[in-house]
Amino acid sequence: MKKLGFGAMRLPTTDPDKSSAIDFDLVCRMADEFMAAGFTYVDTAYMYHGGLSEEAMRRAFVERYPRDSFCLADKLPVSYVKTAEDYPRLLNEQLKRCGVEYFDYYLLHNISRRVTPVLDKTDGFEFLKSVKENGLARRIGFSYHDNAELLDELLTRYPFVEFVQLQLNYVDWDSEIIEAGKNYEVCRRHGKEVIVMEPVKGGALARLPEEASRVFRDLGDGLSDASYAIRYAASLEGVIMVLSGMSDLTQLRDNVSYMGDFCPLDEREAAAVDNVRAILKERSVIPCTACGYCVNHGDGCPMNIAIPEYFSIYNTVSEFGHSWSTLLKYRNLRGDGHKAPGDCISCGQCEEHCPQKIGIISLLDRMRDMESLMTGETFKL
Ligand code: SF4
Ligand code: SF4
Repeated sequence: MKKLGFGAMRLPTTDPDKSSAIDFDLVCRMADEFMAAGFTYVDTAYMYHGGLSEEAMRRAFVERYPRDSFCLADKLPVSYVKTAEDYPRLLNEQLKRCGVEYFDYYLLHNISRRVTPVLDKTDGFEFLKSVKENGLARRIGFSYHDNAELLDELLTRYPFVEFVQLQLNYVDWDSEIIEAGKNYEVCRRHGKEVIVMEPVKGGALARLPEEASRVFRDLGDGLSDASYAIRYAASLEGVIMVLSGMSDLTQLRDNVSYMGDFCPLDEREAAAVDNVRAILKERSVIPCTACGYCVNHGDGCPMNIAIPEYFSIYNTVSEFGHSWSTLLKYRNLRGDGHKAPGDCISCGQCEEHCPQKIGIISLLDRMRDMESLMTGETFKL
């Protein structure tokens, strides 16, 4: 199987401010190019695009290609589980939404210490095992967002898990918060295969600041910034798949161009990655991946604060300076009824769900006068 997966978390939409407005026609065209290039792995989840990502994968792949010509991965939303009865109900709903009788890869979604008490109480991992035993999944695993110590404990307790989906990219590799490298080592020690998510860190490594991008350009290979991030992840031993959130045809074509006939990074490319990592660390922007968990999981933000969008604006202005487009984006968000960063009531709901463990409340507090910061001489928090 080629090592590039069609990530269905950030599909193209007809309205940039509405994640549910999926552009189904475009998704079908992207699916066609993906399949025509010989790629087969498709990754969705119950919660992506407000529940519509699974439907999009049904319409683009399941209803248009033979079932055995692609691998479909789906994830059970553990944060929606209250009792053991919720597991089969959610699984059946997912099979129906996707229009399939089984999943090739089935995962417990977003495992961290926040959900392990519920998993223990409801025998969540035993349910996962039964999904495979009953022929409803070919392979079973979980996506993971916590530290290496807990991962080691989970893989020791549940040796039947076959793979782990990890956030892994060259910036987070030695991050004290994400522990990507340590988590990868734990998986290898337990003999588990790894599927990589966020290889371009929510798009940040595809749009590098000039100083960093120049390092890759100077290699003279004519490859995109994203290509080095995706190939970095795919070069690691035991990594069986690297997911790329497919948002448009340009991105898809770029991804398939170097992953069709994949070559691991050579020595000089690996040295360039080290160099870029050092440059990015110096700039130290907010490590938000725009996953949206802070505003979509649990009860969501009671103040309707557009956390990922505000962080994205901050990062863009920090890296590239002032621009009218970022100011406009901020004003549009406010115009759509989103409260300002300073309206946060510090309830903590967002931080509880953030896989990157970002100190959201204190950042929002420092961003409370965002508009004047963006129109002033300097943008500093
Ligand atoms: S802490 Fe602030 S930003 Fe976070 S969910 Fe509560 S009100 Fe929203
Ligand atoms: S703040 Fe955290 S939870 Fe929210 S979008 Fe960013 S990374 Fe995801």
